[in-house]
Amino acid sequence: MNAYSSIYTRAGGVDFDIPFKVLTIGQETLSVDLPPAPVNTGTSRLVATLSSAGFPQPFAVWEFEISPSRTAGRLMVFPKHYGQRFLLLDHWNSVPVGHVHQMALPPAGTRALNLTLYRYGTTGVSSARYWLQWAGDSERNRRLSAWGSQTVPPVDWFYVELTTHCNLACPFCPSKDLKRPREFMSIENAETLFSKISAYLRLRDATWGYTETRRMVFLHVMGEPLLHPKFVECVTLAVKSGLAPALFTNATLLTEENIAKIFAADLAHVTVSLNVVDQSGFSSLGAKGHIDAQHRRVAQFLSERARRGVHRLHVDIQYIVSDGRSISGNGLVRSRQQVWDCYRKWMLLTQSIDDEKSHPVDPQPVIPLERLANPLATEGSDSSLRLPLAVGIDLVMKSGCSFGNAVIPPGMRLVTTRRGKCPFDNPQRQMAVFVDGSVSFCNLDYENSVKLGSLLDQSVEEIWGSPRMQKIRSAMAAGHVTERLCQRCLGHLVPSLTP
Ligand code: SF4
Repeated sequence: MNAYSSIYTRAGGVDFDIPFKVLTIGQETLSVDLPPAPVNTGTSRLVATLSSAGFPQPFAVWEFEISPSRTAGRLMVFPKHYGQRFLLLDHWNSVPVGHVHQMALPPAGTRALNLTLYRYGTTGVSSARYWLQWAGDSERNRRLSAWGSQTVPPVDWFYVELTTHCNLACPFCPSKDLKRPREFMSIENAETLFSKISAYLRLRDATWGYTETRRMVFLHVMGEPLLHPKFVECVTLAVKSGLAPALFTNATLLTEENIAKIFAADLAHVTVSLNVVDQSGFSSLGAKGHIDAQHRRVAQFLSERARRGVHRLHVDIQYIVSDGRSISGNGLVRSRQQVWDCYRKWMLLTQSIDDEKSHPVDPQPVIPLERLANPLATEGSDSSLRLPLAVGIDLVMKSGCSFGNAVIPPGMRLVTTRRGKCPFDNPQRQMAVFVDGSVSFCNLDYENSVKLGSLLDQSVEEIWGSPRMQKIRSAMAAGHVTERLCQRCLGHLVPSLTP
């Protein structure tokens, strides 16, 4: 084998060598030794970069928060994208505190990749460097051929709707007019659904050598999950199944009791959907009380997160941007000034919390400078601006969503279309499971109009690979939109002729 690897570590300022280790791509899962934790440190941060000789910038960067006792990680091979050489580092029991910061294509013909692991602690940094190569062309070709022969794409994102109840009536959300029954998912059904999703993800990893860095499952399609009377039990079932549950909440129920529930439930991610910036916007959501109280609830939640030292719980504080988009609602973000007012407000708050509860790792976040010039500039169809506030806390300015033209602003009407393609590839990658166990390929299908089947009675593979689902995909690949849901979503709004 002509691949080679060298590992070089520096801990506490003392340099020393540890034995060579070769990493050969061509297996689905590789074990990788982590650099030793710097001495006298608690939880530390692991940053992994993937690069190649002769290219100064890494192709990809990951970031994880890890415990001092952790000595090994798993490397997953994901040959579908990025020149068939794309790798993911998965670190079990360690939820990444950062997202992929940077990702680019290794140039064609790149023969070897360089994986460098940095482990940051309070007393210094240690590192490990690996050279990665395919075992040989035949092995690589066999893998790529197996990957290419898949006829059913893997599900990337799962949504599981814990309830259809909601305590708000936001003007930009169709939830208030929902025709489906208002109900809560039973514990028994939650257990069945989470275990089926988990079994699918484990099998998929083993079969295809593919994994997300987190096995994320969102706990909503519609509804406010914190209304579920057995919220903690449901989330615990998801965690026990090996999933990383993510809560999206409107923050009105962030009481002391519910904040305690969130931490008891061991969630991987929380998005606090504030959405509006002022009192009139807050009232227009159907919310009671003052927006200041809403902000105090979020502050209390963040403070409790710091007090408990749960920095691996990632938090997004989310607003909706309506600038230039067809979405109606008071108090949505419309100007650059409003973006920076929000940023200043939450940055000051998170800094004051960090001052009180000093954090063991460097809390200085990096702001994407290229986005500073015009924070409302959009890229792609679902752009959002993400500004780091502290370790594991981001401010998110999300592009306004009308649930696929479900909510039409006054004075406009919808022209549907039978031509087009989903801008998010949802029929290729997203499974939405409703409160009764029925399934759609899109989380914008708020009324469950698609009805692919029931995950209570069928498996993920059965539903996802069904002839109907394959027909929807192949039609869309040819530019034909067969489902009414998508015909509406891909349509466009024009001024209404009637007054
Ligand atoms: S409704 Fe259809 S086109 Fe719109 S996001 Fe969902 S899958 Fe894509």
